[in-house]
Amino acid sequence: MESVIAELRAALGDTGVVTDPEVTASYERDMMPLAPYGSPLAVVLPRTVEEVQAVVRACARARVPIVPRGAGSGLSGAANAVDGCVVLVTTKMNAILEIDPDDRLAVVEPGVVNLDLRAAVEKHGLFYPPDPSSYDWCTIGGNLSTNAGGLCCVKYGVTTDSVLGLEVVLADGEVLRTGRRTVKGVAGYDLTKLFVGSEGTLGVITKATLALRPLPQAPATLVAAFSTTAAAGAAVSRVVREGIVPSLMEIMDRSSIEAVERYLRTELGAGPGCAALLICQSDAGAEAGRRELAAIEQVCASSGADLVHSTDDVSEGRDLLTARRAVLPALEVYGAWLTDDVCVPRTRIAELIGGCERISAEVGLRIAVVGHAGDGNMHPTIVYDAASEDEFARARRAFDEILALGLSLGGTVTGEHGVGKIKREWLAREIGPVGLRVHREIKNALDPHHLFNPGSMFDAR
Ligand SMILES: Cc1cc2nc3c(=O)[nH]c(=O)nc-3n(C[C@H](O)[C@H](O)[C@H](O)COP(=O)(O)OP(=O)(O)OC[C@H]3O[C@@H](n4cnc5c(N)ncnc54)[C@H](O)[C@@H]3O)c2cc1C
Repeated sequence: MESVIAELRAALGDTGVVTDPEVTASYERDMMPLAPYGSPLAVVLPRTVEEVQAVVRACARARVPIVPRGAGSGLSGAANAVDGCVVLVTTKMNAILEIDPDDRLAVVEPGVVNLDLRAAVEKHGLFYPPDPSSYDWCTIGGNLSTNAGGLCCVKYGVTTDSVLGLEVVLADGEVLRTGRRTVKGVAGYDLTKLFVGSEGTLGVITKATLALRPLPQAPATLVAAFSTTAAAGAAVSRVVREGIVPSLMEIMDRSSIEAVERYLRTELGAGPGCAALLICQSDAGAEAGRRELAAIEQVCASSGADLVHSTDDVSEGRDLLTARRAVLPALEVYGAWLTDDVCVPRTRIAELIGGCERISAEVGLRIAVVGHAGDGNMHPTIVYDAASEDEFARARRAFDEILALGLSLGGTVTGEHGVGKIKREWLAREIGPVGLRVHREIKNALDPHHLFNPGSMFDAR
């Protein structure tokens, strides 16, 4: 292993290679407390694609596994180290190489932070839609590799819907360029989409060409309170059925409303009997925005909302979104949180929330449900005492029961956080033996020695 380290230092210089165990320990895992992790041999911080190629070639020769890593904000253990691996951190490859307002695209390195890109393109009157709640620290490379979602997916889709092309360093060190700079393009297999969401198991993304949109209008916001989750679920289904496309449609259950109200010392206007709150926005602007919200208001009222309030005051809307984004820190007041990620058909949201209430009672732990109602992507979040082995075991049980519930409702085991090292068995269950075989064949074709992120997503053998 000494020779690999020497090769890495020769390629990246001493500052690009870290072997001090006290420092490498901070790159061992991401934000998912359940996932296993190991101790890396080294952490490397390349600055260029050539340095990434040199790392991959050195590791390939010595058969040392590579775990690509962005900011480590992941919630599935996908960036967790395995023993003896090299963790390849992209945070020094953080240049925005091009913003082209005429062709409405940007070319970026993988370590660019999502919010930095959004801010940079906004100066050109442009918009990069994918907005995971972690957008102030997660990287574009991480977003691409997990196919990240966020709050605006109901109208603008997930990360893959904003990607035109990629540059990827493959397992043999060669550079693959996928995709295009054009609006349309169907030449060959869609390799871009293959790499998006591949969680670092097929190669290292070193550059991305991203599609931009015109900056939307300032959003108008609506909040509706329901005394039953069934009524809130019915409102979501009717919004979808009537063809209304808000730019955001989020749901908070009773438990998350209570936690946020206590944490922010504010009233969300939900009232004492409120079981669920819907927060919707329209960024259609002016009259079109007002019409869209009026239509949603009518749907909510006729679905049994106890209260509906609309505003085009941007700061009031921002406060409501701040409350929505505050759910995880608000839950920290009660203990450690473990957030799950299931996506169900939008007609089944109320059943998912009801099922989580049942699971919460069974395991004796608080479970708050918050989610992207417009996509059916729910994040039931389990609160437990991290110092108690018993509570940790019950949290783990609840986590799995929520996944089983999601599948039984016709859903999927992950809507945006990915499979990583915690949902491998669940992926196999969802895609079945033929799906798993095809995954293995693709992995073996691109990464025959299982160099990239071994043990993540599925067992490659
Ligand atoms: C508070 C909080 C809120 C969150 N909210 C959301 C949300 O709303 N929506 C959402 O989708 N996620 C959310 N997440 C999860 C997480 O932020 C996303 O998964 C994000 O995309 C991870 O980016 P990262 O840079 O931290 O990647 P990491 O966690 O470092 O890595 C994630 C995966 O990408 C791979 N990877 C990273 N860079 C590369 C590269 N250049 N080439 C190949 N593989 C690479 C890694 O190997 C790993 O498999 C949230 C997380 C937190 C902590």
